[in-house]
Amino acid sequence: MEYAGNLFVVAAPSGAGKSSLVNALMEVDSRLAHSVSHTTRAPRGQEVHGREYYFVSDAQFDQLVLQDAFLEWARVHGNRYGTSKHAIEERISQGGDIILEIDYQGAIQVKQIFRNAILIFILPPSWEELKSRLQRRGEDAADVIDMRLKNAAAEVAQVEEFDFVIINERFELALFDLKSIVHAQRLKYAAQRRTKADVFTALNIR
Ligand code: 5GP
Repeated sequence: MEYAGNLFVVAAPSGAGKSSLVNALMEVDSRLAHSVSHTTRAPRGQEVHGREYYFVSDAQFDQLVLQDAFLEWARVHGNRYGTSKHAIEERISQGGDIILEIDYQGAIQVKQIFRNAILIFILPPSWEELKSRLQRRGEDAADVIDMRLKNAAAEVAQVEEFDFVIINERFELALFDLKSIVHAQRLKYAAQRRTKADVFTALNIR
């Protein structure tokens, strides 16, 4: 499917720092919009319905799947998560950029639909560091952390499906990497041709 805007998809195992990086990027990049997913997981800590996620019941999620409301959805760590089709299509068809923070299964589904989507995978520098970040975060019980670590091994094996890889050892460097990818993507011929069609037309070039 062709569209004017850029669609960035960021995936990573829990604890690799994906949300912090995407939030920091959003603060300095007003052209990017964030998509709010639906999930059947219960809210954690300070999470607010409509901000981090739309928190829905299993029955509501089933209903949304039946209504074909999701661009992609996947089961992750025992819960279901889905990206709203309408919000994404509306924004990128109008030339806006969007960033999705989803798991690798969702990222691969998105790439099948939007072949121009830019898939970015964030890796932790080591398993030890990933475990200590999950423990420091203090959001999950020990058994949940164990499950997330076990799942992480399968998740990182999917990195070969991605266009870019960031190793998040130092936050500032990883943020620089992420900004660079977004910036470079916007300067590619195909992206400029799509987003700046008026300039190309005025210059009388293809
Ligand atoms: P958490 O429960 O820690 O918020 O998220 C667990 C995992 O689900 C993370 O990897 C997160 O990026 C992913 N996730 C969040 N929203 C979506 C979505 O809409 N689709 C898919 N496939 N994964 C999602």
